[in-house]
Amino acid sequence: MSNATHPAAHAPGRDTLRGSAELIEAEEATLAHNYHPLPVVVARAEGVWVEDVEGRRYLDMLAGYSALNFGHRHPVLIETAHRQLDRLTLTSRAFRNDRLAGFAEDLARLTGLEATLPMNTGAEAVESGIKLARKWAYDVKGVPRDQATIVVAADNFHGRTTTIVGFSSDPLAREGFGPFTPGFRVVPYNDLPALEAAVDETTAAVLIEPIQGEAGVIIPDDGYLTGVRDVTRRWGALFVADEIQSGLGRTGTTLAVEHESVRPDVVLLGKALGGGIVPVSAVLAGREVMNVLHPGEHGSTFGGNPLAAAVGSAVVGLLADGHYQRRAAELGEVLDAGLAALVGQGVLRYRCRGLWAGVDLDPALGTGREVSERLLGEGVLVKDTHGSTIRLAPPLTITREELEWALAALAKVIG
Ligand SMILES: *Cc1c(COP(=O)(O)O)cnc(C)c1O
Repeated sequence: MSNATHPAAHAPGRDTLRGSAELIEAEEATLAHNYHPLPVVVARAEGVWVEDVEGRRYLDMLAGYSALNFGHRHPVLIETAHRQLDRLTLTSRAFRNDRLAGFAEDLARLTGLEATLPMNTGAEAVESGIKLARKWAYDVKGVPRDQATIVVAADNFHGRTTTIVGFSSDPLAREGFGPFTPGFRVVPYNDLPALEAAVDETTAAVLIEPIQGEAGVIIPDDGYLTGVRDVTRRWGALFVADEIQSGLGRTGTTLAVEHESVRPDVVLLGKALGGGIVPVSAVLAGREVMNVLHPGEHGSTFGGNPLAAAVGSAVVGLLADGHYQRRAAELGEVLDAGLAALVGQGVLRYRCRGLWAGVDLDPALGTGREVSERLLGEGVLVKDTHGSTIRLAPPLTITREELEWALAALAKVIG
């Protein structure tokens, strides 16, 4: 249908004239229904605050699932992006660009892993990590061709591609999307004996989240990550840590594995790496692992583009002096104390590390969705995960006063 004949024809500036209700209706009519967003239509944002099309303000306590660790439109990141937009945005990897080497050097300093494979989305980083681990298993470990296995944890979330949902344990993510890629073994999370039993000479890698985000911010027992490191080392398998949501300052350290001083062989980054501006992800590995990839064996048109690399470097720059990690740790204590005070007052239990919490609410108060809608009415944006669990993950730029205000709003809607 041409615009001329369509009654809702899009004209420049038109969206500023349509109200929330009209825009929601238009979205439902035109978009795939693979999401069920809260009924708020955001038009602008700065720092931890967003504003909807009617001018109502909300405190963003989700931060784009940690893609906005530095808040909306952090001035350093926006300035970097503007400068890069004025100079060079895309070359493809057919040619080199003057931003990529610096980005990889920055990531190597940040993670201690010297080689970078740049991609765009988190799921792509996970897919790339899987391919890297399999290639390494055949070329270096000597696993017979097509026999490599990868051990993953139940209740994982690693993205939405067909290979990745194939080893999800969430029926909603899987059902209707088979047949799936073979070669994965699923074991319970935080269960070292089960992991031990699943790892053998065919194991290319153990792929886990150091803290399971989508599952409800599930923090494994102390010693679990160290145990994963021991088992993988003993069997000559790679430890692949998916830090796409847990990494880049969220938990009070640059990477969540630092809480146990564990060094994985492969680290996957995404979300906050793009500064809330562009999708940027990366696979980090030691040189001898990364060297199993040769020209033509893997790639991405947009991976490592100069705009992404410039923004990614600026993100690493923000983490360089430890300021945001310290903020996450210090304000994490405020969050923890605030949630502790609500246990028995509508909160059944919660898990918190840094500025990241999964809060299990008394189901009698309604679903996580219903509580999220009530918080929306109080000017606080959160997201439910499963059932009666909500997740809190504000930008690391939030102030103590703002955090306490959000906690008071939570207390009010569940009280
Ligand atoms: C979000 C997420 C992904 C997938 O990232 P996308 O950019 O949405 O593809 C993978 N792993 C973890 C742990 C995540 O939180």
